[in-house]
This record gives sequence, C-alpha cells and structure tokens, in this order.
Amino acid sequence: MRYELNSEQRAFRDQVVSFVSTHLPADIAERVRLGKSVGKEDLARWTRILNEQGWAAPHWPVEHGGTGWSLVERHIFDVECRRAHAPVLSGFGFNMVGPAIIRFGSPEQKAFFLPRIRNADLWWCQGYSEPQAGSDLASVQMRAKRDGDDYVVSGQKIWTSAAEHADWIFCLTRTDPDVQQQKGISFLLVDMKSPGIDVKPLLAFNGKRLWNQVFFDSVRVPVKNRLGDENRGWTVAKSLLGDERMLVSRVAENKRIFSHLLEIMNSQSEAGVDLSGSGLPKAINEIAIRLQALETTSLRLLTQADAGDQVGAEPSMLKLKGSELVQAQDELLFQAVSYWALPVDTTVTTGESDTGGLAAASVGPDYAEFVASGRYHHRGYTIAGGSSEIQHNIIAKQVLGL
Ligand SMILES: Cc1cc2nc3c(=O)[nH]c(=O)nc-3n(C[C@H](O)[C@H](O)[C@H](O)COP(=O)(O)OP(=O)(O)OC[C@H]3O[C@@H](n4cnc5c(N)ncnc54)[C@H](O)[C@@H]3O)c2cc1C
Repeated sequence: MRYELNSEQRAFRDQVVSFVSTHLPADIAERVRLGKSVGKEDLARWTRILNEQGWAAPHWPVEHGGTGWSLVERHIFDVECRRAHAPVLSGFGFNMVGPAIIRFGSPEQKAFFLPRIRNADLWWCQGYSEPQAGSDLASVQMRAKRDGDDYVVSGQKIWTSAAEHADWIFCLTRTDPDVQQQKGISFLLVDMKSPGIDVKPLLAFNGKRLWNQVFFDSVRVPVKNRLGDENRGWTVAKSLLGDERMLVSRVAENKRIFSHLLEIMNSQSEAGVDLSGSGLPKAINEIAIRLQALETTSLRLLTQADAGDQVGAEPSMLKLKGSELVQAQDELLFQAVSYWALPVDTTVTTGESDTGGLAAASVGPDYAEFVASGRYHHRGYTIAGGSSEIQHNIIAKQVLGL
C-alpha cells in the first residue's frame, strides 16, 4: 500500500513549496545542502522569516502562534522544508519546553517565554541526563532545596547539547529525596547566566563539541521559574517526551539524505568512479524500499491520530526505523565517496564555534566534505530521545504484547 496525498493536501504542499522557494535565503540553503553546520545567527534569521509568516511553531495552539495544521500537514511541511535545504529549527524551544510551558506554565511564564521562543530571541537546552540517569531518567539526583522564594540547586547534568549557545536550560531536579523517585522531581527553568553555573565542553571522538557537562553549584532559581507543581515535574517531563512522539520518523531528513546519496552517486560516475560492482546500486534500492515503508507507516499513524484514533506505542517503531535508516544511508554515503570521506573532518573545531577553529581546507569534492561529520553526528540518533534498546522493549511489550 502506498499512501497518496489528497487534493487539499497537495494544494497545501504547493503553498509550502512556493513560500520556501521564495523566502529561504540562498546562502543558508547552500550550507545545509553541503551538510555544513548552520550557526545561531543564520538559524535565527530563518526562524524569524517563518515566525513572520506564522509558521515557526506549526504545532502550537493557534492562540499561542501555532497554525492549526493537521499532523499530516505538519509532515508535509517538514518534508518540503528539508527538500529545499531549510535548516531545522531548535527543537529544545519549539518542540520541548515551548509545548510544556503552554500546558503547565503560569500566564506570566507564557507571556514571557513563548513569543521569545517563536522569534529565536531565547535559546534553550535540555538538562535531563546525569551521569547516573539516562534511560532511567527518574533517578535524577540534581538537588533543588527550597530557601525562601528560591530553590538552591546543586549537581550535574551531562550530554547537554547546545548548552554553549543556550540562554536558558530546563531541568529535572530532585526536590524530595524521601519519596518514590517519580514523586520527588520538580521541573525548573533556569537562566544560564545565573551565578554558580559552569558549562564544560564534551567532545565527540572526532574532536567536535557535540555536548556539554553543566555543573550547578548552589545556583539560586526563583520559585516562580518552576514549571508545574512542586514534586510533579515527572508529569511535565512525560508530557514533554510525549509531545513530539508522533513526528519522530525522520522521514523528511531521510528523504533529503537519500536525494543527496543519489546526487553523489551521479557525481562520482561523472568523475569516472566505477561503483557498479560495489553493491551500492542494490543497497540503494533497498534503502528506497525501507524509506517508502517508513513514510507509508508514518502517514498511516499520523492520519489515524488526526482522526482522533489512539495510536498507542506504535510511534516507537518510527523512532527506531527512522534513526536506523539515517545510519544505514550514512554508511552508503561513506562508501559512495570512497576515500574522500576520510582525509579531514573540516567541521572539527577547537570547541568554541562550529565554524571557526581548525577548519582545514578540504582536498576532495565539496559533496564529500561533510559525509564523515554527518556520519559521526548521526551515531547519536539511536541513543538520544530513547535508545533503540528501549524502543525494542516498548514495542515488544506495548505493541506486540510479549
Ligand atoms: C546526540 C545526543 C544528544 C543528546 N542530547 C541530550 C541533551 O541535550 N540533554 C540531555 O539531557 N541528554 C541528552 N542526551 C543523552 C541521552 O538522553 C542519553 O544518552 C540517553 O537517555 C541514554 O542514557 P545513557 O547515555 O545514560 O545510557 P544508559 O541509559 O546508561 O544506557 C546504556 C546502554 O544500556 C541500554 N539500556 C539501558 N536501559 C535498558 C533497558 N531497560 N533494557 C535494555 N537496554 C537498556 C541502552 O540502550 C544503552 O545501550 C543526548 C544523547 C545523544 C547521543
């Protein structure tokens, strides 16, 4: 079965294509096309263009600047933005803390944070993981003790992506250590400029700054910056993990990588590289089939959810298969560009900026330059946001009933 868009959905797609083709700045699209990282300023530029159109936060309720689009329309929007090489907006604000503030925030929190997130004036990072709390998130230890109108927060977060760029961090903290784990957690919004916060880079094995450790030493956080009730932070965290669980298939991203893969195959053939005996053509056909299956399954579930039907735990399949497919494509890209993938990873920097640092000149064709860094970066896809093993457990128990 192949899912087909209906005439209204096709008209919607045409509208998106027309807007993106006329408004996406060419210099940003070119960076994305080549697989280069997009800096904060460029991302803010694109976010503001979308915000002006009312499309920066399609999934938020209309009264908070959302669009009222269905899930299928949001899927179409994502696919067309990716196809045009638009950068992806910062998920921490738009997909995570934004929806949580909408659901649990005070009127003051909504009025302050939501417009600033939509306009890329405030950047967020996610302080969930700790050295002893990853998949088992409820075991977070970072302590927040009440002292008058403040909490005093001490402890450590780890694997914090983009903390070096963030203005605020949303954190799971332990406010009551004497009750069942899930019942003693509070969800705090913390200004990264607060005295006592120290951000230290964590480099991936290729030397690139992918994450950070964030240390808290008696950081004072006003009680008014708690989201939801005290000791009910687990409810906020669960809702936040659930908000984006329908759009985890990476179909849009996989489609863009697939077209990149085909372009590279063509460029390599034009450059005289014979890939016919490499097994790549057969492997590419298999990827095309997996991609079609992923998109069909994704659209089936999104259509069900749009109709108000329960989809249960099935989106775990999308997370699992979508992230695995990105990695499978990375392997083929790596093979397709052959030795050009290896000479230098030009995105590796001294850790302070994504575009400065070492940035050695590339010696191969431009289409090969970022294949290695993409492959390294995407290794995390099967870990972040719930590892593949955890997805397998969920599917076994909740989908297959094993
Ligand atoms: C690219 C990337 C970006 C990230 N960004 C952030 C961020 O911004 N903020 C943040 O808070 N965190 C972030 N993380 C951390 C991420 O959420 C954790 O890595 C993830 O939750 C897994 O936790 P862990 O690393 O402690 O591994 P563990 O939970 O210790 O797991 C180790 C291994 O054991 C397996 N395992 C664990 N429990 C089970 C089980 N019950 N059954 C079977 N197998 C199991 C896991 O699958 C894994 O293979 C990021 C991670 C990555 C890779």
